[in-house]
Amino acid sequence: METKFWELKKNPEAAVGEAAGLIAAGEVVAFPTETVYGLGADGLNPEAVAKIFAAKGRPADNPLILHIADPEQILPLTTGLNANARALMDTFWPGPLTIVVPRSAIVPDIVTAGLDTVAVRMPSHPVAAALIRASGCPIAAPSANVSGKPSPTNAKDVAEDMTGKVAGILDGGNCGIGVESTVVDTTSPVPTILRPGGITREMLEERLGAVEVDPALNGDPALRPKAPGMKYRHYAPRASMYLYEGTQAARRLTEAAIRAQKQGLHAGILCDDGVKSHLEENLRRGHSLEILSWGSGKPDLAEHLYELLRDFDRLDPDFIIGMGVDEKGLGLAVMNRMRKAAGYHILLAEEGKTVVRSGSGFPEFLLATGE
Ligand code: AMP
Ligand code: MG
Repeated sequence: METKFWELKKNPEAAVGEAAGLIAAGEVVAFPTETVYGLGADGLNPEAVAKIFAAKGRPADNPLILHIADPEQILPLTTGLNANARALMDTFWPGPLTIVVPRSAIVPDIVTAGLDTVAVRMPSHPVAAALIRASGCPIAAPSANVSGKPSPTNAKDVAEDMTGKVAGILDGGNCGIGVESTVVDTTSPVPTILRPGGITREMLEERLGAVEVDPALNGDPALRPKAPGMKYRHYAPRASMYLYEGTQAARRLTEAAIRAQKQGLHAGILCDDGVKSHLEENLRRGHSLEILSWGSGKPDLAEHLYELLRDFDRLDPDFIIGMGVDEKGLGLAVMNRMRKAAGYHILLAEEGKTVVRSGSGFPEFLLATGE
């Protein structure tokens, strides 16, 4: 299939109009949102939605989110909204929040993977909103990556995965938030975060009072996540990844990187600007490491994480060592993604010692303390 590529800088109205025409005709188009790029099709047309699953290689038991452009567009999709659902819509829409509500009969089974609920979001990105309006339907859209790869946050990464598989790609530049939307189940007695994302737990609690987090999100393999998609490894770079967490994470990562360099290992290092500049001052010229920084602070980490994981695939290190952050604010979402990317190979770095928190098969030198 030939894939059209529209640069929105040139003639945005015409490009969005053409893309909307393809969606209304049952085709699949990738488009930017404020979280990550989405792969959109008419959410009420089961044949069109089936093309999304085919393009991504997505398992059929993983339901899709319906994207709308006006809050009232949710009404035909659900049998009813409770007070929590309405409060969330009023406060956080448009924005990076998806609510799970009881589904109505017009929502095709393929969208919900047969569940009796449906996930709905109203994105704030102007291109996404314009595309939904012009298409005249709710747009079913998962992230625009091949299943198992990190979600794309720019059009080049979408093109890498989707050229030849979809009718078109709208290039709207980089996504600002960089991790997927927060998914909240409003049908449980206490609203429950099924996937942490751009709207933080603290923001939800401020609006709703008590909020729960699905306990399966901690990575305990014995627990089954309530959002079917959260059970997949996802977000994985090609190389094995190991993650330092805890108060001494930055220090231990720095020490491990220096040891890796002394052994001439081709290691990928995922860190912030502070660690990167410290390493560059202390490593010899022509060293064997690939050091990628996200900048400084959690918003930078959220914005750049997936892009950096894809950069590591291009650089092809033998393994990646990363540095975690605390779980406050956006930290809950980025640590959920980072731990999955690392296949839950997690080392806890505290004063004086490093211990395995989860996973096995760690290279010996990662567990040592000091240089
Ligand atoms: P993605 O399409 O990649 O953004 O992923 C959508 C996420 O929302 C996946 O983790 C899905 O399992 C989850 N999801 C979608 N619909 C529902 C639903 N009705 N109930 C629970 N989780 C859902
Ligand atoms: Mg996804």
